[in-house]
Amino acid sequence: MDNKNFILQQLKWISIYFAISIVISFIIPFPYSIIVIIPIVLFLSFYIRRREMRKFGGETFSMFNSNKINYYCMVCGTKHDNTMCPKCGSKMKRIG
Ligand SMILES: [Zn+2]
Repeated sequence: MDNKNFILQQLKWISIYFAISIVISFIIPFPYSIIVIIPIVLFLSFYIRRREMRKFGGETFSMFNSNKINYYCMVCGTKHDNTMCPKCGSKMKRIG
């Protein structure tokens, strides 16, 4: 995620919080509206963070889980996942 996108996301959520606060303060008079707004904002920020973490975690997991990484011997080009090449005994490997 690039910086501009991140700032836009933050602005989006800030305006959502702002809109929620305005709506609530219209319905509920001032000192009581704060009591309602704070838990909602806390819940939302918790929910967003959890959602974003899951997204990030999911990507990491699928990357880790995918068996698409193959190692090839740099000397003879044999595909293997041992420390040493079974063909020529070289420890040099490349990802392909
Ligand atoms: Zn080899």
